Amino acid sequence: GAGLAVRDVVVRYAKAPGGLWRRTRATTVAVDHVSLDVDQGEIVALLGPSGCGKSSLLRAVAGLEPLADGTVTWDDGDLTGVPVHRRQFGLMFQDGQLFPHRDAGRNVAYGLEAQHVPAPERAERVAGLLELVGLAGYERRRVATLSGGERQRVALARALAPRPRLLLLDEPLSALDRRLRERLAAEVRRVLKETGTTALFVTHDHDEAFAVADRVGVMSGGRLLQVAPPEELREKP
Ligand code: ADP
Ligand code: ADP
Repeated sequence: GAGLAVRDVVVRYAKAPGGLWRRTRATTVAVDHVSLDVDQGEIVALLGPSGCGKSSLLRAVAGLEPLADGTVTWDDGDLTGVPVHRRQFGLMFQDGQLFPHRDAGRNVAYGLEAQHVPAPERAERVAGLLELVGLAGYERRRVATLSGGERQRVALARALAPRPRLLLLDEPLSALDRRLRERLAAEVRRVLKETGTTALFVTHDHDEAFAVADRVGVMSGGRLLQVAPPEELREKP
């Protein structure tokens, strides 16, 4: 099918050496045979408590963690062995990791420079992206002068600039206060829908997952328990 297919994926980490485990090959199973589809244009949230394996699954999809088992495909093409930068996936983290010495415009321009987009088109796309995230005219603003919410808006614009075929967001709003999180979750959804971006959004926050996603996947102990639209999950007692 079109989009992302995760099939029976397992992610393991070696346990820290020491004590009784020293001479064994003990591992932590962070992701335990998870299968999940994210269709083209769809937003899926992965919801669950800290340590349940959300981030490990997202990192495995990104190509940042090796699969101990299973497959990850895009449009039916196997991504095994495809390096991170060749997957054409965008990444956004809790701390947007902006370049602090660049202004907002040049942060957003970063991926376009890498793609050798000519300067006039680049400037136009940067302006459009900043407008899209509610920061019209912010090109010359220094990152140091931006609020936490504004920084994550810039980080979102930067992640979208190269038009990734899949955007992977790992707790992108978790560093912000609750009220701002709620507002930005709705805005992230609007921006992803306006750009037609397919996205996998990791969060431990119910409200955020429900506000952002077309479908919510509930994780616990490395397993994906169920995947359903927010309205169906809400109906559950
Ligand atoms: P979540 O994103 O839901 O908080 P993680 O994927 O970060 O969960 O972690 C899942 C499990 O894997 C946890 O038990 C965590 O301690 C373990 N883990 C995560 N990253 C590593 C790592 N780099 N090395 C060893 N164990 C890890
Ligand atoms: P440096 O900091 O190395 O002197 P510049 O600030 O002149 O470089 O910009 C480097 C590149 O980034 C230039 O090609 C410029 O067109 C592009 N650029 C700079 N600012 C913006 C912006 N606000 N929007 C889009 N592109 C920008």
